[in-house]
Amino acid sequence: MAHNEAVDVVLVGAGIMSATLAVLLKELDPAIKLEVVELMDSGAAESSNPWNNAGTGHAGLCELNYTPQAADGTVDIKKAVHINTQFEVSKQFWSYLTKKGTFGSSKTFISPVPHLSFVQGNDGVSFLKERFKTLSKHHAFSDMEYTEDKATMAEWMPLMMPGRPADEVVAATRVMNGTDVNFGALTNQLLAHLTSAPDAQVKYCKRVTGLKRNGSGWTVSIKDVNSGNSREVDAKFVFLGAGGAALPLLQASGIEESKGFGGFPISGQWLRCDNPEVVKHHQAKVYSQAAVGSPPMSVPHLDTRVVDGKKSLLFGPYAGFTTKFLKHGSFMDLPMSVRAGNIGPMLAVAKNNMDLTKYLVSEVMQSMEQRLDSLRRFYPEAKAEDWRLEVAGQRVQIIKKDPKKGGILQFGTELVASKDGSLAALLGASPGASVTVSIMLELIEKCFPNKTSGEWAAKLAEIFPAREKVLETDAALYRKINVQNNVALELVEASNETESYA
Ligand SMILES: Cc1cc2nc3c(=O)[nH]c(=O)nc-3n(C[C@H](O)[C@H](O)[C@H](O)COP(=O)(O)OP(=O)(O)OC[C@H]3O[C@@H](n4cnc5c(N)ncnc54)[C@H](O)[C@@H]3O)c2cc1C
Repeated sequence: MAHNEAVDVVLVGAGIMSATLAVLLKELDPAIKLEVVELMDSGAAESSNPWNNAGTGHAGLCELNYTPQAADGTVDIKKAVHINTQFEVSKQFWSYLTKKGTFGSSKTFISPVPHLSFVQGNDGVSFLKERFKTLSKHHAFSDMEYTEDKATMAEWMPLMMPGRPADEVVAATRVMNGTDVNFGALTNQLLAHLTSAPDAQVKYCKRVTGLKRNGSGWTVSIKDVNSGNSREVDAKFVFLGAGGAALPLLQASGIEESKGFGGFPISGQWLRCDNPEVVKHHQAKVYSQAAVGSPPMSVPHLDTRVVDGKKSLLFGPYAGFTTKFLKHGSFMDLPMSVRAGNIGPMLAVAKNNMDLTKYLVSEVMQSMEQRLDSLRRFYPEAKAEDWRLEVAGQRVQIIKKDPKKGGILQFGTELVASKDGSLAALLGASPGASVTVSIMLELIEKCFPNKTSGEWAAKLAEIFPAREKVLETDAALYRKINVQNNVALELVEASNETESYA
């Protein structure tokens, strides 16, 4: 076995997270030597693949689960505002790269697609009205429109209004400057940009099989999936960007911070339509409310997708249960992740979440006709022959210790890092790819604190002229940055935007 090749950084997995972190590190320190290790034969082969996720540029514009309603009817907008500013931070990074000229066009990965919310019934309408009233006062949402007028809705969502009962109570909001993001194209563009620099490599068909402490760094064992040959690489810093498979690697690291974490894999399916006659009547991402008692990832939405220059529609997701941590993973993933340190939290979650388990089983058991019935709540005149079922990516939700309940299920993401900052892993999947840049900034602040406040500070300020906190409160700066990003990413015409904010 060959031994002791040495790099500064090993990144496991070639999805959006590793690709973003690798490019960011190379921008901050062009001399850094790094290697991305990917078990598949291309980048973005798992959750970051455009057909494995919904491609929504999550900015809190349409996702109703980001704005919960309290018992007194008030709507809490904190999460929507935060995610919106995180997305603006992602856009700053993509704008910065696009302006460099060597990165390539942003049109390959981001497209303007309006974001709408649609509700049915009196409760839904009063919630949406209150949400609109509260959100539209915030500068990030001041362009939001609200309507209960069916003729207006027929203009906004021509596919969704015909065939509805005349007395149906419905309402919608619309924000024109939403986006669809092809995270697969973005990942591959980042990886191509990365490898055009010296000392940056992406190695495909290689599986990371083990991690061992090596002084202040790590020795990473890597197996060629075709030849079976193994090699070892020493790294000062390791990022476990292995998507659903980050948990077993984190456990293999043995770091104290990994103890007690478990994973709850949830699979997904979509209905997809490529018929141009149908697609041309729906140019929007329309999100509605999840059925009472169902988990947040089951919020139904009918989306325009723009992938490789072609438009399609996706509806779903339909959730399901599997024991695999990756779409191309093994059914043994879940059982093999059980440890003495996480069995308590995992059993507590199993006991306290019977409703979720029942829900997932019922979703898996659905017939095509039942899936079409759900679609027809959005698009009453949908024809079966226009739609086909596709398998989406895996989400591994986080299970963690809880002093009161023993264990809890968490639907967000969590960055887990060793105390000395030499290893970090990203667990969980939501809101996901849209906020990658904020998460990776959090990672470098946690693992490289001296550099972010020292030699990297000026470059960080150049790439990110405004971070999340200031964007949340400074309306004028938000508008300036938002316009700059939208122009750089060709989401709007330069002159139109400059005039409208003059
Ligand atoms: C159904 C669904 C819908 C979603 N919708 C959206 C959305 O609309 N908007 C949004 O922003 N986000 C969305 N997300 C979330 C988003 O897709 C993920 O957060 C994001 O793609 C995760 O990127 P990643 O790089 O962490 O993981 P991945 O893209 O899964 O990449 C991990 C990589 O690691 C590799 N790997 C694993 N183990 C090893 C190993 N041992 N050695 C080497 N390589 C390894 C895998 O092969 C894979 O290529 C959605 C996710 C799902 C599942």
